[in-house]
This record gives sequence, C-alpha cells and structure tokens, in this order.
Amino acid sequence: MTKKTLGLDDSLHHYLQAVSLREPDILKQLREETAQLPMSQMQIAPEQGQFMALLVQLMKAKKTLDIGVFTGYSALVVALALPPEGKVVGCDIDEEKTEIARRYWQQANVADKIDLRIAPALDTLDELIAAGETETFDFAFIDADKRNYENYYERCLQLLRPGGLVAVDNVLWSGRVADETVDDNRTQAIRSFNDKVYQDDRVSISLVPIADGLTLARKQ
Ligand code: CA
Repeated sequence: MTKKTLGLDDSLHHYLQAVSLREPDILKQLREETAQLPMSQMQIAPEQGQFMALLVQLMKAKKTLDIGVFTGYSALVVALALPPEGKVVGCDIDEEKTEIARRYWQQANVADKIDLRIAPALDTLDELIAAGETETFDFAFIDADKRNYENYYERCLQLLRPGGLVAVDNVLWSGRVADETVDDNRTQAIRSFNDKVYQDDRVSISLVPIADGLTLARKQ
C-alpha cells in the first residue's frame, strides 16, 4: 500500500479503463476521429470526461461553460450529463475543429443544449458578464491557451454561482511544471496559475492527478 498517488503504467491504466470506463459509442467515435488530427493530444482523456460528467451530475448542474472546445469532446460529455433543459456555452476561435464538434453534437441529439460562440473566449466571457449572467453558471471547464488561464479563471469565478465549480485542465503539464530545467512561456503560465489558485481563499481546491492533471476549485 502507498499513501502517494500511484503512477499509472500502461497496464494499470488499461486496467483502470477496463473496470470503469463507460464511454458511449458517440464519444468513442469522436475520439477516434480526433485521433487522426495532428493536434489530437488536445483532446481530454475519456476517464477524465466521465469524471467531469459525474461531477456535473452530483452538482445537479444546468448551466456550464466550456472554454476551449476543440473537436467538442468535453462539451459533449457534459451535455450528455445535463438535464434536458441544461446548457453549455462553448468558447473557441477555430471554425474548422468546431465543425467536427457540431457534427457529433447533432448526432448525439444535444446540439440544442450547446451554444457555441466562435470568438476569443475572453470576449465571450466579458459579454456574458455584461449581459448580467454573473453568478448564474454551475460549472466551468478551462482547457484553452495557457497564457490566459488566469484571465479565464477570474471571469469564471464571476460567472459561477456560490458553490459552483471550475475545473482546469493540464495543470501537471506532462510533469514539466516540476522540471526546473523547463521554463518556456506556457509552462511558466501554468506554474503561475497553480500558485495563484493555491493562494486563493475565494475557493476550496483539489488538484486531481487524472490524465494531465485537473484542478477543481469550488467558489465559496
Ligand atoms: Ca487539455
């Protein structure tokens, strides 16, 4: 037994998926199509998607944000977990990748739950704030350009209701955050973000070492 989080080698990761992953076919198909793209590593792990769906169900969330849509996996897995009246506001600037997303959302019959805004996410978040949607969201997932993580996080805190949850992806950054020989801009941005959240007494937190690291921050 260990009190330290286990590192998962391939066989243990395979076992974890074999005894827990219940990925609907539509998500599996989307993952397989995305795997053909050069930037496929931007897609979240399926067990992470399932974990986020569970959180959304536990919270009885109805209104969520998806910042960094890519080919739509996280928005789809959350939309499938929401009640019929649930809504995801998706933010992305990439028309081409989100065209794949839209196709799968339609096939899964959740396209009417997802409001995709093609614009810089900060603009969309500022529009939502200006439109009076402050403190109306239950859940937000941040998985976009790392240099803006702190900006996305601040806006999400405004848009979330008290007790709402923000989930932030890639906070372990393939281990590079802990490697002192690495100091590129994106790694520095993630380190700086992690330090900020750690000091932030507006939220209760947990850094969950699932996939590439997922920070959960609950607004007090
Ligand atoms: Ca990611």
